[in-house]
Amino acid sequence: MLKYNLSYWERETFFRHFDVAIIGSGIVGLAAALHLKRLRPRLHVAVLERGTLPAGASTRNAGFACYGSMTELMDDLTHMSEEEVFSIVEKRWHGLQRLRQLVGDEHMNFEPCGGFEVFTEDEEDIFRECCDRMGYFNRIVGAITKYPEPYVVADEQLRDFGFRGATHLILNRPEGQIHTGKMMARLLELAAEAGVRIFNGIHIERLEDSADGVTLQTAAGWTLRVPRVLVAVNGFARQLIPDLEVAPARNQVLITLPIPGLKVRGCFHYDRGYYYFRDIDGRILLGGGRHLDNSTETTSEFGANELIRSALAQLLKTIICPGQPVEVDTWWTGILGLGPTKKPIVERYSKNIVVAVRLSGMGVALGTLIGEEGAEKLLAI
Ligand SMILES: Cc1cc2nc3c(=O)[nH]c(=O)nc-3n(C[C@H](O)[C@H](O)[C@H](O)COP(=O)(O)OP(=O)(O)OC[C@H]3O[C@@H](n4cnc5c(N)ncnc54)[C@H](O)[C@@H]3O)c2cc1C
Repeated sequence: MLKYNLSYWERETFFRHFDVAIIGSGIVGLAAALHLKRLRPRLHVAVLERGTLPAGASTRNAGFACYGSMTELMDDLTHMSEEEVFSIVEKRWHGLQRLRQLVGDEHMNFEPCGGFEVFTEDEEDIFRECCDRMGYFNRIVGAITKYPEPYVVADEQLRDFGFRGATHLILNRPEGQIHTGKMMARLLELAAEAGVRIFNGIHIERLEDSADGVTLQTAAGWTLRVPRVLVAVNGFARQLIPDLEVAPARNQVLITLPIPGLKVRGCFHYDRGYYYFRDIDGRILLGGGRHLDNSTETTSEFGANELIRSALAQLLKTIICPGQPVEVDTWWTGILGLGPTKKPIVERYSKNIVVAVRLSGMGVALGTLIGEEGAEKLLAI
């Protein structure tokens, strides 16, 4: 890391005074910044981001606009109360509507294509269980989404998609997909238009809260003093605040080259949500498989995991696009933040610091609301 002191000009021109600094320019940090400017237009707000672009999950995810497939919610109900599970579903649903309002469907190519869950022959039992409990989920999730029957069996569409070995499909109708890159580009644009100052290449190494403000120690060697700080660094939270219950979780993702005559359309979860895939620009984006090597993937370092990558490549060729000429264009990884529950942490951490982190695998849905909640907590200080 480049070490330097700020010049007098830099200090006085660019960093003279901020009322609030937000660390992290993912969905949460940007949504928080926009909300602060909307509530208090005269506030001087800075977003400090270590990457050239946001470098965590928000520009590296799959772009599912989802709030919960049946097997995921059934699994959640085994270790969380009914109230907790459905209040998170409700938050994800409202978060998605808020994101659509903020960004605009046309700016992120929002497509209400539905979210599918794919079942294979050896998952007959769990599929049957889903069918038995569909009425229950439809009643509760229907009341949240105002869709009379969000979950339906959609086996008739199996042939359209051309999967091999898939025996059943459950469609979650209110879900959709977005273009993640466009969504983030628009949020950055909106923040700049609102007068938020976004600085890239600033890695905050340490925070020190005291009676009259927070000192931010940058990795470059200089410090910044700000009255109030919002920490929106999700999976990297422990690097700044070690006692937060947030574990980093790396995810491997591939995208294929365009596939002539691709039949797959929409967002899909497979194997209880361990894998996810969708179409984009005539290609398949596929990710997941973290359960195959959980300990290695509990890391905040970007990087390949060959075991998982070969499982994903195999899944692509055998089940998703059998008999088709599929070639991987590129791979990447993203880091998300997990905890013992799926509830995000939005709280005042110390006198002048608020944290808004731990968005699990649903930050597209939750990010806007969590950022806005964090912003309001900051204003309440
Ligand atoms: C591969 C993958 C697929 C996913 N798919 C989906 C999906 O389809 N649908 C969905 O709803 N969710 C999905 N998610 C989850 C979702 O992307 C995240 O929950 C969400 O983006 C989190 O946003 P955030 O702003 O909290 O964090 P991030 O986007 O991670 O932003 C945190 C930012 O903080 C910066 N930062 C960290 N430490 C510092 C520091 N010390 N100093 C300065 N800056 C710092 C990072 O560079 C980063 O830009 C996926 C995640 C991954 C990784």
